[in-house]
Amino acid sequence: MNDVPQRLNAPLTVLPRVGAKRLTQLNRLGLFTVADLLSHFPRDYEDRRTVTDIAALEDGMTACVQGTVAGELRSNRKPGGKTVSRTAVFDRTGKLNLTFFNQKYLKLETGTEYLFYGKVDFFGGMRQMVNPTCEPVGAENSQFGGLLPLYRLTEGIGQNFLRSLVRQALELAQGHYLEPLPRELIDKYRLCPPEEAFSRIHFPASPEDVQTARRRLIFEELFCFCLAGQRLRGKGQTLPGIALRPCDPEGFFSRLPFAPTGAQRRAVEQCFADLTGGRRMNRLLQGDVGSGKTLVAAACAWLCCQNGRQAVIMAPTELLARQHQETLTALLAPFSIPVELLCGSTPAGERRRILGRAESGEPLVLCGTHALIQGDVELPAAALMVVDEQHRFGVAQRAALGQKSLHAHLLAMSATPIPRTLTLILYGDLDVSVLDELPPGRKTVLTYAIGEDKREGLYGFLQKQVDEGGQAYIVCPLVGDDPLDEPDEAAERKAAVAYVGQLQTALPRLRIGLMHGRLKAAEKERVMTAFVQKELDVLVSTTVIEVGVNVPDAVLMIVENADNFGLSQLHQLRGRVGRGEKQSYCFLLHHAKTDAARTRLQTLCKTNDGFQIAETDLRLRGPGDFFGQRQSGLPGFAIADLASDMNVLEAAQQSAQAVLQTDPTLERWPLLRDRVEEVASKTLATSLN
Ligand code: ADP
Ligand code: MG
Repeated sequence: MNDVPQRLNAPLTVLPRVGAKRLTQLNRLGLFTVADLLSHFPRDYEDRRTVTDIAALEDGMTACVQGTVAGELRSNRKPGGKTVSRTAVFDRTGKLNLTFFNQKYLKLETGTEYLFYGKVDFFGGMRQMVNPTCEPVGAENSQFGGLLPLYRLTEGIGQNFLRSLVRQALELAQGHYLEPLPRELIDKYRLCPPEEAFSRIHFPASPEDVQTARRRLIFEELFCFCLAGQRLRGKGQTLPGIALRPCDPEGFFSRLPFAPTGAQRRAVEQCFADLTGGRRMNRLLQGDVGSGKTLVAAACAWLCCQNGRQAVIMAPTELLARQHQETLTALLAPFSIPVELLCGSTPAGERRRILGRAESGEPLVLCGTHALIQGDVELPAAALMVVDEQHRFGVAQRAALGQKSLHAHLLAMSATPIPRTLTLILYGDLDVSVLDELPPGRKTVLTYAIGEDKREGLYGFLQKQVDEGGQAYIVCPLVGDDPLDEPDEAAERKAAVAYVGQLQTALPRLRIGLMHGRLKAAEKERVMTAFVQKELDVLVSTTVIEVGVNVPDAVLMIVENADNFGLSQLHQLRGRVGRGEKQSYCFLLHHAKTDAARTRLQTLCKTNDGFQIAETDLRLRGPGDFFGQRQSGLPGFAIADLASDMNVLEAAQQSAQAVLQTDPTLERWPLLRDRVEEVASKTLATSLN
């Protein structure tokens, strides 16, 4: 009786006109079963609902016309073998010329009425359509009169063929598509039945149909995704963790040179609850640049050491690891907690000494780069792993880190404010703490988007700031022809060197340093140190300063070719200045040609709120581009759009939580459970790639 899966999971060859060859072509589109075909949603629609009078056609509009063919199609062969056929049609309001290229077999009966759909242009003062779609009035299975789906295609598979295939799939599935969603949710969110959703999304009679269908399909997709995520996460939560003995965080706070912000207190409390609760902590700490995440990590490390254990803090670059060591040394000095540094460049003897210390199990904080997780490093006494700038680490490194310390608590820190929706998607397996408050007394960085014409004035301003004791960063990325290419480091260095030359000519008194990806770690260190010690006024850099160090006198950030960066990236660069008492500035030099591009940069001039910027960035560029050239790790959705369906995602997330609370194994919803298992295995597959 229940042949649902069989019907929907049947291979596409059950449909007429699908043989081996077609099947291969359809497979290329990711279509294997009837269900796949149903979920191959239109990317757009052609609106063929209303017929427009010929007299009302305007240049450039796409329209439907109903007219009588005025005379026989006249064909000409052009040199090169092309044929051009022409005729005209008329309705009671006017005449429309038709031109067809290479349609030798097209027949239009003189005196008969047809429907035409196409783009109108004015040619020699006359209205015409080139290569319109046409169909005699009253044809069977008419392609006119509604919204016609436009699908993603592949070679050999045309729109019409795919449309008829989807129609057949819909017929086949009729009466066999059972409702996987719980009744309460259908009522609560007024969702239409699945079958209706599929037929409306593919062959809607109106835009409202599309809306109704989308609502249901998007909800279902996101709901299943959230369920899958929470079930995976549920597994993680049952892992036992080292239960640390609780300590009052005041013991740590009271020895700080400043009072922690409310957000820092909250985050520390959340972490301490995890660390002392007996379950393994798996937490993401998100906070804008400068929000003081290091302090939260230090508090957690302190708790570990109070318990006679060790804490490990891992950073993506040596520079940053070193800075962590310095900061933590200062913060933990009142408690006589030693802080060691282990990087790739650490000499062998020093490395042995540090590892010996780590293996002895004495209370200790160990800072480092991914050298920490390589080879012979054993960290049996580590109770906590902190991963800073976690978005910079690949999934593989994160996994290796987990392997290294299977029992330790994890605190991941990220300065990239990620819109809440993406957090749910990317880090559904993590609990999240947010530092949504900057330490007091920070001045906003005044930000301006300017064109090439302002360069001279900008250089004058730069010289003036330097004369007054300020320092400046200039970021000059290599702008390649293909934005998808990973930047070539050699070319990048060449561009940066040339840039320094030009700047030096324009401003001969400046002491300029250069930092780029090709420099050895020690050399980078040397340049950076010179900048910190004010032996340099200006640091010209490719993007490697993205996670650079704290320089209080740096008051000016200039970004060349700013239109090539994502907003969130620019916001991070801007975060390098404004660390001290003085007013700081950020200039975004751009060659933006469109209003949209200029408006995008204006977002940064108007707000300093990293989360708001991230939301805008996501909305403007879509999730795929949000993380720039790096692999985003986002799952592909068939219909949901993370940029515009945020509200639905939140509803789906809450619903998933509620359902799992009453029925953790989805006993009552076998169909739903199957679906979720499928999503879970796909998600895991993508995230492990
Ligand atoms: P991020 O979140 O970018 O890692 P940091 O932890 O580096 O930020 O902190 C940025 C700066 O703010 C540091 O110089 C730090 O000493 C300072 N800071 C952190 N918390 C506070 C606070 N509560 N009050 C004043 N300054 C603070
Ligand atoms: Mg930091």
